Amino acid sequence: MSNAHSSGSARNAAITAVTNYSPSGPPMNFIDTPTHELFGANIFGKAEMKTRLPKAIYKLVVKTIETGEKLDPSVADVVATAMKDWAIDRGATHYAHVFYPLTGSTAEKHDSFLSPDPEGGALAEFSGAQLIQGEPDGSSFPTGGIRATFEARGYTIWDVTSPAYILENPNGAALCIPTAFVSWTGEALDKKTPVLRSMQALNTQAQRVLKLFGHRDGALVSSTAGPEQEYFLIDRNFFFARPDLINAGRTLFGAPSPKGQEFDDHYFGTLTERVLACMLETERELFKLGVPVKTRHNEVAPAQYEIAPVFESANVATDHQQMTMIALRRVAEKHGMVCLTHEKPFAGINGSGKHVNWSLGSSSQGNLLDPGDTPHDNAQFLLFCGAVIRAVHKHQGLLRAVVASASNDHRLGANEAPPAIISIFLGDQLTDVFEQIKGGGAKSSLPKGTLTVGVDTLPPLPKDAGDRNRTSPFAFTGNRFEFRAVGSNQSIAGPLVAMNTIVAESLDYCATKIEEATGGKKSLLNEALQGLLKEIITEHGSVVFNGDNYTEEWHSEAARRGLLNLKTSVDALPVLDQPEVKALFEKYGVLSERELESRYETYLEQYCLTFNVEANLMKEMAKTMIFPAAIRYQGELASTCADLKAIGAEFDTDTLDKVTALVKSLQDSIGGLEKAMDIPDHGGALDHAKHYLNDVLPAMAEVRTHADELEGIVADDLWPLPTYQEMLFIK
Ligand code: ADP
Ligand code: MG
Repeated sequence: MSNAHSSGSARNAAITAVTNYSPSGPPMNFIDTPTHELFGANIFGKAEMKTRLPKAIYKLVVKTIETGEKLDPSVADVVATAMKDWAIDRGATHYAHVFYPLTGSTAEKHDSFLSPDPEGGALAEFSGAQLIQGEPDGSSFPTGGIRATFEARGYTIWDVTSPAYILENPNGAALCIPTAFVSWTGEALDKKTPVLRSMQALNTQAQRVLKLFGHRDGALVSSTAGPEQEYFLIDRNFFFARPDLINAGRTLFGAPSPKGQEFDDHYFGTLTERVLACMLETERELFKLGVPVKTRHNEVAPAQYEIAPVFESANVATDHQQMTMIALRRVAEKHGMVCLTHEKPFAGINGSGKHVNWSLGSSSQGNLLDPGDTPHDNAQFLLFCGAVIRAVHKHQGLLRAVVASASNDHRLGANEAPPAIISIFLGDQLTDVFEQIKGGGAKSSLPKGTLTVGVDTLPPLPKDAGDRNRTSPFAFTGNRFEFRAVGSNQSIAGPLVAMNTIVAESLDYCATKIEEATGGKKSLLNEALQGLLKEIITEHGSVVFNGDNYTEEWHSEAARRGLLNLKTSVDALPVLDQPEVKALFEKYGVLSERELESRYETYLEQYCLTFNVEANLMKEMAKTMIFPAAIRYQGELASTCADLKAIGAEFDTDTLDKVTALVKSLQDSIGGLEKAMDIPDHGGALDHAKHYLNDVLPAMAEVRTHADELEGIVADDLWPLPTYQEMLFIK
């Protein structure tokens, strides 16, 4: 079948791809490939190091990984040689320092292991110096003005705590080394550095609190993260017929599909063979890289899916999350599909988020947000939980700011994702416990049965509380908090940095208060705790909300409670510029004022760039694809009308009139968009962003309205873009 128009040919090609699909590659099974041969096969982790490193060196490396202590530089040469030999055994020819620039993506620069030797030959080389530090030309990564381009130097520094891995390609393999990326003056230019720093801050403060409870073993307290990734899979043929998907990652046009998600028939539904094959292969790739992916299922929207790993230390989880997004995209391609991780690829159906499950714990204490069953555990749990409540209330603006992006704005508050108001779901039982603390502690004589911290036992909290509240942006889910406002395309680094830092600050506050109140006397601990928790829940309890966050009532209730409602990125990002936020990050050594400023600048710039690209794309597509299709159809209708009139027959011009009117509106709205795009020099990035929000976005919405209406009228064989119905349901 041939079809002159891309929409029709894309559809035919997609149908062929679906109907002719046959699985390629060997199936994954744990009989032919035992799990231990599969899982972590491509990482230079502890197991591999143990066999390849001298015992003393191995011990030093593990100590660094487990305690966060600095690595003795003298061991680097030994590790580098072992790593190189291992990598070459696994087919690697190159090595790359992998780093995470502020764009939220993953960057890598590959260097060959081969170096020419004086005899005119070549030898495979990889020194400790090359392992520890690299020097990519970082001048084209966003730095928000920290580093002028003439000082292009940026350094990548080996992160010992995140295992090196092999990146396989049909034509060769590369050894990848996760690194931090800093300027030559030592300022963080990346997403990883502050994660590591914030984990240190959290550990320091958590240790103080643990000491109060008599735990002095000093086992590293690490924040843990388990990110659930939502994404869409569509046939590649559609993708390539849509300039908006190619360049913006989302559809800028598209009338709603006659069938959407109203039947709720997709959520947890069975997977098509091609989709399941793609998931299996993604999982296999991730297993090899030591990413512990665990669950997979359909999501609410048609063609939407989710993948989630078992939680890990926040730093490793962050790297693994980036690897997961890359694997999803690469494997989808192999199966003739495209993985869309944009927060809102399609209007009118749910967008995608990334639920970041977060907790903190240590090897000796386990999960510190696990209520446990003994009174002693409970007191400790309540303090950590209280610290989180205080942190979230105090820094709600910051939590909103770290999930702000042009694309996530489409989602937050659109009644499919939590609203822009940050609140905490605690569940009825835990809320009741805190309410009792609030009420009970106030009276001189406690009424019988009232909970006293450290004395009574918490009612056992079900791990998976039955009343799962999906509408809350920050929910306690039995033994962790789940931050649900994170966008599907975002790095989880920013949200984790924020959570680690605000909780560190809160634990600092709590430890100081209790230290003061008890003067080191253990017998005064319970009373001090009771008083502190009472204070926290009285002052910060307004952030707790267990109801439906999607309702209008909650919006007014939240306003009454004085909670922030930072609706857009333009409202939220300036939080990063507030003196108290700068002071917070500075105090805990997570980000200096200059580093934070550079982030603020960069994120505003990204916001503007995103809409600039989208507006230009929209203009071009409207002019060169949609307008021509509309007037062709108009022409057909007009000539049919003339022909019929000529032979004396009737022609109802309703459709022609409608098309004519819409063509006029479309043209006018394109003019409106062009006018809005003529942006005066505002001088500042924030004003520039405001212009996009207030002028460009409404103008884009106007163009889309007319174009989408035309889609419902213009002859299908003339329409140039694959439709929602095709993209979402031909799979
Ligand atoms: P649901 O969809 O019901 O929220 P999932 O099983 O999809 O649950 O995801 C839950 C996520 O929470 C998993 O990634 C899991 O590893 C993670 N998680 C569980 N315990 C912790 C913890 N202590 N710290 C961080 N993440 C955790
Ligand atoms: Mg989930």
